[in-house]
Amino acid sequence: MNQERPDTRKISPQGVHPITIEEPPDRKLEHYNKIFLGCSNNPDSYPNYTIRDNKLYRCIHSPDRLNDDFVWKEVPLPQDRHAIIEVNHGSPSELHLGIFKTLKKISLKYYWPGMFKDIANLISTCETCLTYKHPNHSPYGLMGKPKLCSRPFQTISLDLMGPLPMSRRRNQYILVINCNFTKYTMIFPLKRATSANIINVLENSVFLVHGIPQTIIMDNAVQFQSREFHSFLNSYNVPFIFHTALYCPQVNPTEKFNSTIITALASLVGDDHRSWDNHLTKIQYAMNSATNVATGFTPNFLVFGRETIPCGSFYTPTQNLEELIFMPRDIYASNAGLLSSIFHKV
Ligand SMILES: [Zn+2]
Repeated sequence: MNQERPDTRKISPQGVHPITIEEPPDRKLEHYNKIFLGCSNNPDSYPNYTIRDNKLYRCIHSPDRLNDDFVWKEVPLPQDRHAIIEVNHGSPSELHLGIFKTLKKISLKYYWPGMFKDIANLISTCETCLTYKHPNHSPYGLMGKPKLCSRPFQTISLDLMGPLPMSRRRNQYILVINCNFTKYTMIFPLKRATSANIINVLENSVFLVHGIPQTIIMDNAVQFQSREFHSFLNSYNVPFIFHTALYCPQVNPTEKFNSTIITALASLVGDDHRSWDNHLTKIQYAMNSATNVATGFTPNFLVFGRETIPCGSFYTPTQNLEELIFMPRDIYASNAGLLSSIFHKV
């Protein structure tokens, strides 16, 4: 979105959305129309606004970038804002995220005055949230203690959930693996909660993808205590293994993420209780692309050095390959380079 302001003087004001007789007087719409018209007719007086494809954009300081970039964000029409909040809070690929995370997500693309209030109003009346969410002040534990890690996947936490209703694919358990540094979460369905199944996931989807952790935190479940499991960890020379009930009660950081997963599952499965394992990847994606309150960044960004693209509409709309616009590569490089300074903050 970092691009020069187009010459809006060439744009006719036919994209203006005037208040019609049918519409009730709406100060938000009046405000929108005033800026849209002003920006169309006299762009020099509205240096913070521009119009592209009949949409209003405002240049604002981006809270989501690491440097002091100013970026263009779309100012949606007042009547479209409710739907934007709903899609980003409660659509199937989202998780009924809280106010802070929903705001962060929406503000990646949009800006409008009073965003926070609009989002808070909608979420505080969301039926799913009211039904399934409950105050969760459970274990902050190690997260607030002296840090056991200084880079991604140095310390991971494991937790088993279940048994759940047997799915059509005969899964009954969920293994949740969390990177304590980045808060990156991985969610795996298991048919049976055996040490062998957990070892299989850990080795093939964590150790051989993200590297061998220095510390693993888990509870006292028999699968984690077994000789088979410990000999697997020893085969990779994992130096520190903590069983939370022994180390310090109620401090497995993964448990903190479980209520998010349960809330999301409950809202996604509806009445089809045998379909829950169809939704795990979507839940994982939504969790990892939402800004984490503790770190101030998305887990995706901290692990991959970039935000993932959630939808093709983020790209410039064109059917013509020759018209494709590519951002300068140094933007990605400079963002990735700043990870080193972030890691002191996280
Ligand atoms: Zn909700």
